[in-house]
Amino acid sequence: MVYNWLNKLQDTLFPPRCRLCGGAGAGRRDLCPGCHADLPWLGAACVRCALPLASDGQLCGHCQQQPPAFDRVIAPFRYAPPLDYLVQRLKFHQDLAMGRLLGQLLAETLATLDGPRPAVILPVPLHRRRLAERGFNQALEIGRPLRDTLGIPLEPGLAQRVRPTETQSRLPARQRQRNLRRAYALGAAPLPDHIAILDDVMTTGTTVNELARLLKGAGVTRVEVWVLARTGTQEDGG
Ligand SMILES: [Zn+2]
Ligand SMILES: [Zn+2]
Repeated sequence: MVYNWLNKLQDTLFPPRCRLCGGAGAGRRDLCPGCHADLPWLGAACVRCALPLASDGQLCGHCQQQPPAFDRVIAPFRYAPPLDYLVQRLKFHQDLAMGRLLGQLLAETLATLDGPRPAVILPVPLHRRRLAERGFNQALEIGRPLRDTLGIPLEPGLAQRVRPTETQSRLPARQRQRNLRRAYALGAAPLPDHIAILDDVMTTGTTVNELARLLKGAGVTRVEVWVLARTGTQEDGG
C-alpha cells in the first residue's frame, strides 16, 4: 500500500523520462516507445549460450564441441549501441537509476518465458577489492527490480569471489579460463536445485561457466544464466 502510494507520488514528481532521447517515458519505464523498439534485440541465437547465429534453434560450434556447465542463457539484447551506453552508464558512472531500467527490461523478457522458474537469483559476485573500488555490484543493481517483479529472492551470499583477478578483457580466452580457476567459492547456505546466475553482459561466458561448474559440482541440477546483453562473438573482450 505504502509502496504504491510512494510510487504514485514519485511518478507525479519525477515522471519517467527516456534515458536515450529525453522524451516522455512509457508506463513506469525510463524509455520512450520508439527508443525501446529500436534497442538491439537479440534475434536468432544459440539455444544454449545465446551467441547470435544466422538461424534459430541451433547450437553454436563452441557449445557442440565443449558443452558449457550452464543449461541455457537468457539475454534480451545484443551488446551493441545504444544498449552498451546504458550498461556503461550503470557500470562506470555509478548511474544506479540505470540499474532499475536495465533490470526492468530483463524482467519483461523473463516474464514472457514458460517453464519452471529458478528458486533464487545469484548475482555474479565481485571481489571485495573491486567492490570497494566501484562502490556497488552492477549485477545486484540489475537484480533488485528482477526480484521485485518476478518475486524470486536474490541471494548474493551463495558464492564469493575469493581471488582477485586481472581485468578479464586484457587476457586471451585460454588464459581467462586459467585465471578463473578457484576464483569463486560457495558460501555455507544450502543450495536449491535450480539457480539463475545474473550478470550484466556475457562475452566469452568464462566467468558464468566457472560459477555454473562450481554450482553443479555442489549438486545443483539446473543452472540458468540471465544477462542483459550478449556480445556477437566469443572472442572480443569485456
Ligand atoms: Zn526515447
Ligand atoms: Zn552456444
